[in-house]
Amino acid sequence: MAENDDTNVTGVFRSYMTPAGYTQRAKADAGRCDLHVTPAADSIIGHCEYYYRPLHCEFRDKVEKLPSFNEIVDWARSFNPWSDSTVTKELLGKRDRLIRPQCTDSDWSRHSNFMMRHIGCGHKPPSYYLSYGYYYCSNYGAKLNPRLSEAGKHWLARARFLLQKNMETGLHQNMIGDGIQMASGIDGNGSFSMSDVKQYQLELDDDTFKSFAFNTHPLAYLDAGLADLPWTDLLKITGQPSIQEWEDGRTWEQAVESGAVVLPQKAGDLVNSASDAVNGALQRLMAK
Ligand SMILES: [Zn+2]
Repeated sequence: MAENDDTNVTGVFRSYMTPAGYTQRAKADAGRCDLHVTPAADSIIGHCEYYYRPLHCEFRDKVEKLPSFNEIVDWARSFNPWSDSTVTKELLGKRDRLIRPQCTDSDWSRHSNFMMRHIGCGHKPPSYYLSYGYYYCSNYGAKLNPRLSEAGKHWLARARFLLQKNMETGLHQNMIGDGIQMASGIDGNGSFSMSDVKQYQLELDDDTFKSFAFNTHPLAYLDAGLADLPWTDLLKITGQPSIQEWEDGRTWEQAVESGAVVLPQKAGDLVNSASDAVNGALQRLMAK
């Protein structure tokens, strides 16, 4: 993988002097490796497209086959975003716009912004943008949302906003120095610190980026009010019954009646069960 420690150099161009009668074209390598992550436009934070715009045919083809989430995760790690020449041409045509701060172009995403800053240098966008970011956000969120109460729907929208806000905060911290620290302003909602992330390097290592993103998840889910949600919403987030079965409205009532979902009997049970339900929902949301 290419390295670039000098952040003021965005590309290298070599030229050669040749005799006037020499007709063979001189070789030139033009590339970009711009490590400066520019901030997202406020208007896109809170939307799944913030992570990735489904522009590539290969992505759409993959999603149409209704893969499991694990298949999407595996596929995203090996996906080469440069192989689609139509998308590449379109993005390159607006490169200057896509790397500007607060870009509101319809093709902007964290994924396309990365592509336009790393051309021909060997760096690949974090696979998180495609899988946990875009696919999980749009797929899981779309299935979950209509099943939730009004409070649950509000929580989902707020959590999505905070997930992306936290990502922006982490990326910004990585532009100004080594290490990333984040803490909830609410007692008990946690904090994290990653001292080994070097300045400008966060987006460049797939595993480090995924660890960073997952560290931000509980802060976003809890700060959005997960623990205050009704019991029924928590169980739906936990996936009891499974999310596919929610398509059939009867499943939920059947699950309660059959005892697959045990509702609390006493006040004391309610406290324990409520914290179990919050933990269960959090674990479901944090599943890797
Ligand atoms: Zn690069």
